[in-house]
Amino acid sequence: MQELCHFIDGQHVAGTSGRFADVFNPATGEVQAKVPLATKAEVDAAVAKAAEAQKAWAATNPQRRARVMMKFADLINRDMDKLAEAVSREHGKTLPDARGDVQRGLEVVEFCMGAPHLLKGEFVDNGGPGIDLYSMRQPLGVVAGITPFNFPAMIPLWKLAGALVCGNAMILKPSERVPTTAMMLAEMIIEAGLPEGVLQVVHGDKESVDALLDNETIQAVAFVGSTSIAQYIYSRATANGKRAQCFGGAKNHMIIMPDADLDKAADALVGAGFGAAGERCMAISVAVPVGEETADRLIEALVPRIEKLKVGPYTAGEGVDFGPVITAAAKQRINGLVDSGVKQGAELVIDGRDFSLQGYEDGFFVGPSLFDRVTPDMDIYKEEIFGPVLSTVRAESYEEALDLVSGNEYGNGTSIYTADGDTARDFASRVNVGMVGINFPIPVPLSYFTFGGWKKSGFGDLNQYGPDAFRFYTKTKTVTARWFSGIKEGGEFHFKAMD
Ligand code: NAD
Repeated sequence: MQELCHFIDGQHVAGTSGRFADVFNPATGEVQAKVPLATKAEVDAAVAKAAEAQKAWAATNPQRRARVMMKFADLINRDMDKLAEAVSREHGKTLPDARGDVQRGLEVVEFCMGAPHLLKGEFVDNGGPGIDLYSMRQPLGVVAGITPFNFPAMIPLWKLAGALVCGNAMILKPSERVPTTAMMLAEMIIEAGLPEGVLQVVHGDKESVDALLDNETIQAVAFVGSTSIAQYIYSRATANGKRAQCFGGAKNHMIIMPDADLDKAADALVGAGFGAAGERCMAISVAVPVGEETADRLIEALVPRIEKLKVGPYTAGEGVDFGPVITAAAKQRINGLVDSGVKQGAELVIDGRDFSLQGYEDGFFVGPSLFDRVTPDMDIYKEEIFGPVLSTVRAESYEEALDLVSGNEYGNGTSIYTADGDTARDFASRVNVGMVGINFPIPVPLSYFTFGGWKKSGFGDLNQYGPDAFRFYTKTKTVTARWFSGIKEGGEFHFKAMD
């Protein structure tokens, strides 16, 4: 059995706690590795070493830090296939999907190459007689990144790229279910020139997370995961005086207007609802057709598309649409929620509960399920299912659909399919959700915008990646300067590089 290590000061370091978590191959149900779960003492030691390493890194000029990102991006491209394979092996998603996982993280690394420009402060000349004012963006020190299982490459990259290029050190605590990709990324960024100790990868569970939240050296906590944990981490981190951004779960709706192209909407729903087995925080889990006729036509368009979906292991190649869910417990929970939908009166149009794959009977596979006539009081509507289950809530009017989306406790993403620009504009302007798609199913913003849900999908003031990352990972210092006299002669006349 492979025993994984922490990554401290550029080295693989065995865990000392004696506690381990199983890392499964979700397609076969077998345990493929054991990952150590760090103690408070191990976390504190990693933080202390990071604090030492951070001093020189913070003093390294932003252009040099950006060059590490340039080289890192080259290495990610070089190792794209290896990274994607590691993602698929532990998560179970298909290889093309895993490459997308790496790619959307890589794009954030690319954005961070602009750090010298993004870290520039403001300046006013002669704010008073002989007085200049300027601001500086300075790194926070050591920060923590705590990430979920569902994007083993993308979310660690979202967290670490901005933190590091701003001159911070980071303790990355990846999901214990998918630990390998984060280790590979850590090795690659050292190869790209990051000094050892500036990025430490510590594996663990609640004990290591609590150690980070209580460690006085940690200045900020960047978290992504489920809502209850996001809320807990936000409260404890901020109570301890830390800056925190904690992104949580979701229930994303797509409104389908009567004038929408139903084939395009159905294609989009199948990809956004069932892709990655529904284990995406931006998955569409609720379809909201407006009008009975739209609903009937939508269900008619969805059924053959869903029936055609191929579920299987990533090793089966291009023919597979989605893979297993992450654990046996996740499978059981999803099937239990489907049971509850039936009991509470929803119409189960396609039932994925009894799905089984020859040769992979112990894998965590769940077939696709489609519900019609779901109502907002049902558990399948209220809970984030995080599985291949699409619920249809029929709305009588656009206003009713809009109220449903805006009234939901989550506010990560939403989408509208319509042929009418006026409706689309009205929706984008009024809906109470952080990221909106118009005839676009999964509106994850590009790396030079920012990503962040509203309501119970995000706690904290700043979004992740893009310009907000540079605000989150730096503090502003403002200088008011007056010089009474000076020597106005004797400069250097040769053209010099910045060292
Ligand atoms: P999770 O909350 O179980 O775990 C996330 C991280 O928190 C992991 O590193 C885990 O080790 C740690 N953790 C778990 N329990 C803890 C506890 N009691 N105390 C302290 N730390 C703890 O989430 P997950 O199952 O890995 O990921 C799926 C969830 O993440 C879904 O709810 C999904 O919507 C959400 N998600 C949100 C976004 C977003 O940007 N909003 C993106 C991806 C995933």
